[in-house]
Amino acid sequence: MPNTITGSCVCEKVRYELTGSPITNIICHCDTCRKITGSVFMANSAYTRETFSKSTTISPPDSRNTIHRHFCSNCGSPVYTTSTGTPGYENMLTVTAGTMDIGNNSWKPSLEVFCMRRRGFLNPFEGTDKHEKSPESF
Ligand SMILES: [Zn+2]
Ligand SMILES: [Zn+2]
Repeated sequence: MPNTITGSCVCEKVRYELTGSPITNIICHCDTCRKITGSVFMANSAYTRETFSKSTTISPPDSRNTIHRHFCSNCGSPVYTTSTGTPGYENMLTVTAGTMDIGNNSWKPSLEVFCMRRRGFLNPFEGTDKHEKSPESF
């Protein structure tokens, strides 16, 4: 992947820049990720919060959950997720791979989680570290 990545939501109100390498690139097949994306899996990159900068402030939804999904308030695109409840991951965020302005061959998954929920028509991704549920750590 390139060292600096820019991305945006579909209406481009939210633009962001990421510097450095991701901690990991994740495909998640869990029910929540399917519903949040409206698609059949979620593709995310995990970064530390310091490496992420964005053009506009978007608030997390008012939620008591420890997972905060940040959407564009204008077009609703899911942009990134933070967590306050997972020990060791308070300083991490995961950015949706689909919002990155990158070439077709720049992003490859390295981790595939909740494989037990993978839709039957999907083949496992080649070269990923596969877990039936959530991994213990990245
Ligand atoms: Zn937008
Ligand atoms: Zn998931």
